[in-house]
Amino acid sequence: MESAEIRRRWLRFFEERGHTVVPSASLIADDPTLLLVNAGMVPFKPYFLGEVQPPYKRAVSVQKCVRTPDIEEVGKTTRHGTFFQMCGNFSFGEYFKEGAIKFAWELLTTSVEEGGYGLEPEKLWITVYKEDDEAERIWRDVVGVPAERIQRLGMGPNFWSMGVPGPCGPCSEINYDRGPEFGVEGGPAVNDERYVEIWNLVFMQYERGPGEGKEDFPILGELPNKNIDTGLGLERLAMILQGVQNMYETDTLRVVIDKATELTGVAYGAHHDSDVSLRVVADHMRTSAMLIGDGVTPGNEGRGYVLRRIMRRAIRNMRILGATEPVVGELVDVVLKTMGQQYPELLTDRKRIETVALAEEAAFLKTLKAGTNILDTAVTDTKAAGGTVLAGDKAFLLHDTWGFPIDLTLEMAAEQGLSVDEEGFRRLMREQRERAKADAKAKKTGHADLSAYREVADTAGSTVFTGYTHTEGEST
Ligand code: ATP
Ligand code: MG
Ligand code: MG
Ligand code: MG
Repeated sequence: MESAEIRRRWLRFFEERGHTVVPSASLIADDPTLLLVNAGMVPFKPYFLGEVQPPYKRAVSVQKCVRTPDIEEVGKTTRHGTFFQMCGNFSFGEYFKEGAIKFAWELLTTSVEEGGYGLEPEKLWITVYKEDDEAERIWRDVVGVPAERIQRLGMGPNFWSMGVPGPCGPCSEINYDRGPEFGVEGGPAVNDERYVEIWNLVFMQYERGPGEGKEDFPILGELPNKNIDTGLGLERLAMILQGVQNMYETDTLRVVIDKATELTGVAYGAHHDSDVSLRVVADHMRTSAMLIGDGVTPGNEGRGYVLRRIMRRAIRNMRILGATEPVVGELVDVVLKTMGQQYPELLTDRKRIETVALAEEAAFLKTLKAGTNILDTAVTDTKAAGGTVLAGDKAFLLHDTWGFPIDLTLEMAAEQGLSVDEEGFRRLMREQRERAKADAKAKKTGHADLSAYREVADTAGSTVFTGYTHTEGEST
């Protein structure tokens, strides 16, 4: 089943059951606590928080999402992309646990001929929060899932909150057994690659009081209006329904891999490392095109820095695969063609998206070679002196003069067996900002030095890159 059909069926199923179809919001979150939308519930947050009265009781959507914290997984696990689409159904104070569980089961297991996704019930494993007897009972006694395929998990994976006072509650996840070629048996609690998580049901049931982090907060009581928030990964379901080994081989991503192969001559399936690179390229180019499509431009702070890092990483991986010419134009072109079927604005906006992408590639290619030489020399010198840590001033120079995001320096140094003095790098970044601030003050002209206003992204390094978005359990 094609991705487009999975999406159509999703929307139709819930629309027929009284849900209002809500189009995907922009990736640029209308939310000061979030850099980019990372879950289907984000556009509905004001309803869940009770700040705004929802105009409907039930809603359904397929939301564009970006999860930068998953970047390290990309290409290595079979199921994580930095961009993906989250199919969601939502109930605002209406149906609750039993309703959500029954909908999910019906849609997944109804045959393809009858409008469902036709998954075999025996391949579905369920996890519930360890104290959620009610959810377990519904899965077992109402739906009929055998007790041995229901597992209880702790707060980390199976309890949801927004990290602030407000609604919170247990989750229940539906996982699909891909069989022994994906490793040992024992259910999702034991092996999350074999029993791949496809759908998370969040039961917003309690009110959370103030407190630190994910686990250490008081629960004030039951919410008067209980809500449902669910998220199913479109690409993960596509992977299962298209019978492929990982999400990068599904229809909308495979075409990007094939283009990268055409441009580099490296066949998919040839080697583990080149396959990882091909998947990184496919993922990152798609994420870049989608971000530019929603109005992000490459830069040194905030969202612009997310985009820059992802694009530069894709470009470098193309170089590793052997590309010597610019590649971004052709890669973006395939992405727009395939994603444009679902998001027609990408096609009407094609010229602008390509222009932004090409400009970033040109800027990076100008400095990539010289920067790489500088890095290589620094690595050689460090090793010759018996060191294992690349000096912070080298990372600073690479960033400041050669446009290397700190993550790129970290990655390239690690490939040669070195770590980087990140603390030293950050100190130099801080000093530079302070100098710029002082200069601007001294001049007292209207032309402020922009570097004085640079966001924390560069100064705080790779940790901040992920720090803006909620941790995984906090989003859907
Ligand atoms: P995982 O444990 O596999 O990282 P998650 O628990 O972080 O997933 P949720 O926050 O529950 O994911 O998101 C809801 C659904 O969105 C998941 O069940 C999955 O199908 C999908 N999803 C989450 N992260 C990604 C990703 N990086 N790439 C593709 N799909 C994803
Ligand atoms: Mg999970
Ligand atoms: Mg989950
Ligand atoms: Mg996750």
